[in-house]
Amino acid sequence: MHKTLLITGGSRGIGAATVRLAARAGYAVCFSYRQDAAAAQQLVAEVTRESGRDSGREGAPILAFQADISREEEIRALFAAAEQRFGPLTALVNNAGILEHQTRVEDMDGDRLQRIFATNVIGTFLCCREAVRRLSTRHGGHGGAIVNLSSRAARLGAAGEYVDYAASKAAIDTLTLGLAREVATEGIRVNAVAPGLIDTDIHSSGGEPGRVERLRTGIPMQRGGTPEEVAKAILWLLSEDASYTTGTILDVAGGR
Ligand code: NAD
Repeated sequence: MHKTLLITGGSRGIGAATVRLAARAGYAVCFSYRQDAAAAQQLVAEVTRESGRDSGREGAPILAFQADISREEEIRALFAAAEQRFGPLTALVNNAGILEHQTRVEDMDGDRLQRIFATNVIGTFLCCREAVRRLSTRHGGHGGAIVNLSSRAARLGAAGEYVDYAASKAAIDTLTLGLAREVATEGIRVNAVAPGLIDTDIHSSGGEPGRVERLRTGIPMQRGGTPEEVAKAILWLLSEDASYTTGTILDVAGGR
């Protein structure tokens, strides 16, 4: 069956792990990147090589497209590019997200809140809208699946660290639940994964020394997760094996 996935923020971390697994599972994958063109091209080359296809001859099952999802016109261009290359979409993973570290609420300025919510909430919301317009049987589509990236922080609150980020991910939970019900009879399943502490670069921007190690000790499994462990959960939620699962927020958090 023709399977086409669009994933936002795919050049590194959980996104890149999802791109690799999805390509191995037979999806044609279009992923967006914001800035790091070199990392994006490297991932394209890796997946192309692994697919055993010559991009000149048969067409590699992967496309990288630069897009900032806090800009609506760039989201439209991203969806258009994916469709132009691979035909109708069957799946969307809203992975792109940002975190700014360790600030008490009284010290957060409006610009920080605008940045967090523009990407994590409005960007994700608009990508969902674009997907529903294409996938819904109500609009002549053939259905499909959406997975949003939430966080355990949505229900833990991230007090003293990044309450703004936690609140943005709580909005993703509500979007996931509401949209899942809205489109449940239109062939679209909508779910979220809620990772705990995953070892990626998102934690590299300016936390106190030893912060990640301190967080790790609070996890029942006593370790951070890998991007691949989250990607496997995402792939399952996208797959037919999850055909009766919608409106679910799946924790991938080592028991946290
Ligand atoms: P990461 O920082 O490595 O990756 C995030 C990706 O999103 C990057 O490729 C970045 O360029 C992209 N991005 C950010 N803002 C963007 C924008 N405006 N437009 C386009 N792309 C943008 O982090 P990660 O850990 O791989 O995070 C992936 C997702 O998982 C995020 O939504 C994050 O909030 C969520 N998450 C991560 C953790 C964790 O511990 N790593 C935990 C819970 C949730």
